[in-house]
Amino acid sequence: MVIFLSLLLCAALIVLLTTALKTRRIARELQDAVRLNRCMLVNEPSSMLKRLGFDGLIKETNGLIDRYRGNADVESGHPKQLEAMLGSIQEAVIIFNDEHVIEFVNDSAQRLFQRARALKGARLETALRSASLLDFLSAYRGDRSLKQQEVSVERQGEVLWFEVSCAEVRGVSAQDAKSTLLVLHDITRLKSLEVVRRDFVANVSHELRTPLTIIKGFAETLVEDHATLPVETRARFLDKIVNNAQRLHVLVEDLLELSRLESQSEQIQPSVQSLQQLLEEMLEPYRLRLNPEVQVLKLDFDERVGEFAFDRFRIQQVFDNLIENGFRYAPDFTLLAVSVRYDDANDLIQCTVADDGPGIPAKDVPHIFERFYRVDKGRSRDSGGTGLGLSIIKHIVQQHGGGVSVESEAGQGAAFHFSLPYVQSQPGE
Ligand code: ADP
Repeated sequence: MVIFLSLLLCAALIVLLTTALKTRRIARELQDAVRLNRCMLVNEPSSMLKRLGFDGLIKETNGLIDRYRGNADVESGHPKQLEAMLGSIQEAVIIFNDEHVIEFVNDSAQRLFQRARALKGARLETALRSASLLDFLSAYRGDRSLKQQEVSVERQGEVLWFEVSCAEVRGVSAQDAKSTLLVLHDITRLKSLEVVRRDFVANVSHELRTPLTIIKGFAETLVEDHATLPVETRARFLDKIVNNAQRLHVLVEDLLELSRLESQSEQIQPSVQSLQQLLEEMLEPYRLRLNPEVQVLKLDFDERVGEFAFDRFRIQQVFDNLIENGFRYAPDFTLLAVSVRYDDANDLIQCTVADDGPGIPAKDVPHIFERFYRVDKGRSRDSGGTGLGLSIIKHIVQQHGGGVSVESEAGQGAAFHFSLPYVQSQPGE
């Protein structure tokens, strides 16, 4: 009897032990599948679950793992989708959280604001130095309907302008918290053009106003006091009117010339010809204006320069303007030298018109090619100058594909240089 009971106990113990072992294996199989995120094989003969017929449990667990994997893919794919969508657009895009920590930047924003350092993870305030942007963001927090605003951002001493807009987004961070999407459209160039345009209008108005006021004043006096004014005074007043009308005419002509040069439709018309021949013909009338005892007008032409392509009318205009300036602003020159050299290193024709007159003060040199820029405002205006001559020259030379420069010091004369590409074939051939 005792033996029978002992055997029964042993058998019960063995059953218990194998069940415990099987349960552990089942638990381990489930644990491994979940930990490694790996589905279990349905027909795996060594699988304890399979052997015990838990096919349903295997299917359900695999289903769960599949669904989990799908969600994880969607989540980890978020930044990639964002990058694909926003990465290549021209506007700078920045997404930041409530603490103003940047969560996403596209290529444009990275390029624009911080080439060397990654912006992601930085605070918005350190990446973009802009009080007006922060003002806009706090206004946006108070009124979500606020759509767009112009803001300025300081970048290494220069000021950039942007049209900025905001939107609330979710799901950028893992916690699915709320973030703010900032789109910055660069309008710096537009802004600077606006300044140029405003300055230009102000300059033109100013230039027109002076002669117009003079004409109006003298004409009104002539009308009102016609009967009482002595004949010589009337003649003097009429003279003033004619002179100022002439000044207006020159100004309007120069302005039209500039606008023609700037318009795409009026391009230069180069043809292959001899610059030497043109210059020799051109200089003749100027020689007649020299004081032969003290003044020389010299042409130094590099013999290596053959015929090449340029717009005859326009290049003559450039030389005329520069030589005329010599007579006007350096009237006591002893030498006015025109030289043409071949720069073989760069395949350019280098032209220079130099005088030994009063020169240009160093502070004025960088501005001399700007529209309406004059060194001595009063004297230049009295001598009939509009301050547009050199900017017209610059345009013509640039249209030829060349560049302009000046070398001068007060009291040391002035040398105006311009280059032209040495193109010896007919354009379009
Ligand atoms: P403008 O059309 O009135 O002659 P420019 O644009 O040709 O004006 O020249 C601008 C200014 O440059 C002139 O007002 C003058 O002060 C200066 N300038 C030009 N050429 C010379 C020169 N050869 N010597 C000294 N100053 C010059």
